Amino acid sequence: MRIAVISDIHSNIQALRSTLAVIDASNVQEIYCLGDTVGYGANPNECVELLRQRSTHVVRGNHDHAILEEATAKYFSRAGRTASEWTRSALTKENRDFLGSLPLRVDTEVCTIAHACPFRPEEWEYVLSLEIAERQFSAFKTPVCFIGHTHIPVVCGEDLLTFSFGKDMRFLVNVGSVGQPRDGNPESSFGLLDTDTWEYENKRVAYDIAGAAEAIKNAGLPDILAKRLFEGV
Ligand code: ZN
Repeated sequence: MRIAVISDIHSNIQALRSTLAVIDASNVQEIYCLGDTVGYGANPNECVELLRQRSTHVVRGNHDHAILEEATAKYFSRAGRTASEWTRSALTKENRDFLGSLPLRVDTEVCTIAHACPFRPEEWEYVLSLEIAERQFSAFKTPVCFIGHTHIPVVCGEDLLTFSFGKDMRFLVNVGSVGQPRDGNPESSFGLLDTDTWEYENKRVAYDIAGAAEAIKNAGLPDILAKRLFEGV
């Protein structure tokens, strides 16, 4: 089976559509989404609706959570808070209810999925060091755990020394961000796992960045949210 793992779409429908087009051409059977479907971008309803149609599993991200628990948006940047308020008023009740129904974590036979990390996922800790990564391996039992949240794609083996995917070791894999990459590469990022050959690939997809930026400006959202898309930061 081939599984596509997407994360951090952040209401960027241009990036999501281009990414799904590549997924559709990649002989993929299941699509898992690691959350932060909304926040920052201009098309939250379109993104949630597309995911509801296409995903096998979706978990809740901190930006999805902030739509339901307004007080948690206080941890966001100023632009993030503004976008969160805007998204709360823009979302339909049906789509808001969908975000409210999402679990924080799903464990399948093959993998564990969580937005920020499998260890206390409700605390939304950023896995940005080997010390924090090490803690995660005690919090899942499956061969691989997929995470997002930092918007930076990474592969990390359980020995904290192996950074290319392979057999005979458990892996923590950050698939990067579809809608707001922050590793200096503005192209959409997602993960592709082949469970038969046990190969994992981080894929990058060019998309209509100008269109996504234009939509952010037209929605009256902070300019910085449009600008950063061009730089991938
Ligand atoms: Zn995010």
